[in-house]
Amino acid sequence: MRRLLLAALLTAPLVPACISSAAAQTAPRWSLAIHGGAGVIERDKLTPEQDKAIRAALARALEAGSAILAKGGAALDAVEAAIKVLEDDPHFNAGRGAVLTWDGHNELDAAIMDGRTRAAGAVAGVTATRHPVSLARAVMEKSDHVFLSGAGADAFSRVQKLEQAGPEWFATPERRRQLETLKANKLSAIDVDRKYGTVGAVARDASGHLAAATSTGGITGKRWGRIGDAPVIGAGTYADDRACAVSATGAGEYFIREGVAHEICARIRFAREAPQVAADRVMDEVKALGGDGGVIVNSPDGTIAWSYNTPGMYRGRISAGGKPVVAIYRDEP
Ligand code: ASP
Repeated sequence: MRRLLLAALLTAPLVPACISSAAAQTAPRWSLAIHGGAGVIERDKLTPEQDKAIRAALARALEAGSAILAKGGAALDAVEAAIKVLEDDPHFNAGRGAVLTWDGHNELDAAIMDGRTRAAGAVAGVTATRHPVSLARAVMEKSDHVFLSGAGADAFSRVQKLEQAGPEWFATPERRRQLETLKANKLSAIDVDRKYGTVGAVARDASGHLAAATSTGGITGKRWGRIGDAPVIGAGTYADDRACAVSATGAGEYFIREGVAHEICARIRFAREAPQVAADRVMDEVKALGGDGGVIVNSPDGTIAWSYNTPGMYRGRISAGGKPVVAIYRDEP
């Protein structure tokens, strides 16, 4: 009996002291949040068609992830399923429709992390896998490593028999136009679009486990094998059942320097801050460094927070028994 009790204690997810038992009892059984990037996203910057198509894609991603969670499935499966929908949608900077490098190619970054075990997988600069998030998951589950890059990661993808796609699948005319504008006007990646379109998901499943995943093309005109925050565990992606799950979007260099995703989890775990407080404080620090962007956070009791220091963020959330919520602009709930 004592052994059973000990085993139960060891496998139970730890709930930070900041979450009262009353809150835990009323907390949603499962919950999911997603983002499709933050930036200068204001009503006059999107056509009604773009607005509609983006909301529909976010809703489809929520549907894919929540269908798994509602059946008692794992947070890890839910975040992968949600990201795959957004990777296939050209409105976002991930998979199909990812931004182009200076040389006009796609180099994709992705990461996934399991809060139960803190197992993680990440890839950087991959060029031929239709769903980079699934390649990150294969790194986590089928290799001895956490982080693969470039040609090696592409080769591993083929060995794992993941679905391959040619350059014409990823590159869209709109991304070519953005690259040409950047070059012609000597702009930076930040000036050319003023929107980050990285996609991310954070889930809490009915068993109380957390997972996070992020997928991106990085920033327009990136050179020399530049890697952003998205695949860097602790910067753009992190999950720990004892604290939180985080996925970020924004100017990756600042998110790496701040260690954003881990910093939010550390504040929740050690300083016992509420997820919203931790997310807001860390985003304030990113802003103080000069960076912009946003994060989504899920927590051991399923409470979701999002925080961004840009005019808007493509985002969505759903909890057990609730309706999906999709939003773009700051004035939306
Ligand atoms: N964070 C990404 C990067 O710096 C860009 C994005 O959020 O779209 O690579």
